[in-house]
Amino acid sequence: MADQDYRRMQEVLARHDFHFKKKYGQNFLTRPQLLNDIADGAKVTESDTVIEIGPGAGTLTRVLAERAKRVIAIEIDEKLIPVLDETLADCDNVTVINADILKVDLDELVSDESVKVVANLPYYITTPIIMGLLEKNFPFENITVMVQKEVAERMEAVAGSKDYGALSLAVEYYTRPQILFYVPPEYFVPRPKVGSAVISLEKKDLTDQMREQAPEVFTVIRAAFNQRRKSMVNALSNAAVFGASREEIAGALEAAGLEAGIRAEKLTLDDFIRLTECLKG
Ligand code: SAM
Repeated sequence: MADQDYRRMQEVLARHDFHFKKKYGQNFLTRPQLLNDIADGAKVTESDTVIEIGPGAGTLTRVLAERAKRVIAIEIDEKLIPVLDETLADCDNVTVINADILKVDLDELVSDESVKVVANLPYYITTPIIMGLLEKNFPFENITVMVQKEVAERMEAVAGSKDYGALSLAVEYYTRPQILFYVPPEYFVPRPKVGSAVISLEKKDLTDQMREQAPEVFTVIRAAFNQRRKSMVNALSNAAVFGASREEIAGALEAAGLEAGIRAEKLTLDDFIRLTECLKG
């Protein structure tokens, strides 16, 4: 870490008697080059509204504010609000909201505008944050986030690989994912135990039909991966998905051209969509 940036951040945090909290996944960034690389990856322009999840001490927020029309930064830790008031004092286009991202209605914060989501995410809630943004149909153009390396690989995973699961399928359904670069632990304060990666999720233009059928497709996907070691016919029967009997599920698998003994990890997104249609019959 560049010594001078690190010292400046530590000095502000110490003055506000701030102590890093593990429970909030607080691992901060200060290296200017990395902050710029994240903003570049997000393709932030002056017509964009950026939602930043967890601004921390505001280092990434400031870089985003220099490029965007406005930044809405949502931070759960009230101890960081006076820190942000100080570090972002000269950034007129930033609004800091002290709230839990999982409880905020983001649609109320933005109207008809181009929105990009950018964050060095708190790793303990990466999946609910990403699934929430995708499934609530929040109108973002892209999401660019730092996540644990393994989670980035799960998001990009394809059928048949060990990392493949409900998260990979949700990411594929709604977006085009691309891991932009990897980041080692020493780039954070304090250092996390895991490696990290910045991933970009570009929103796809979904048809109305894709949007409408999503809840049903994901009911099937979740039931299948909740018991990923079992055959599809067993996993879906145990979950009694759509109230279907074992025979009906076996019939739907056959109609979709899938073997009853196949496991969830072998099915592509198209297989799950076809199977859902057959199950609804
Ligand atoms: N953006 C800063 C940076 O890169 O230096 C901090 C990133 S740190 C990995 C994650 C941030 O998310 C912390 O500031 C933490 O307090 C905040 N956070 C954790 N849980 C949150 C939640 N549920 N809602 C909003 N912010 C949260």
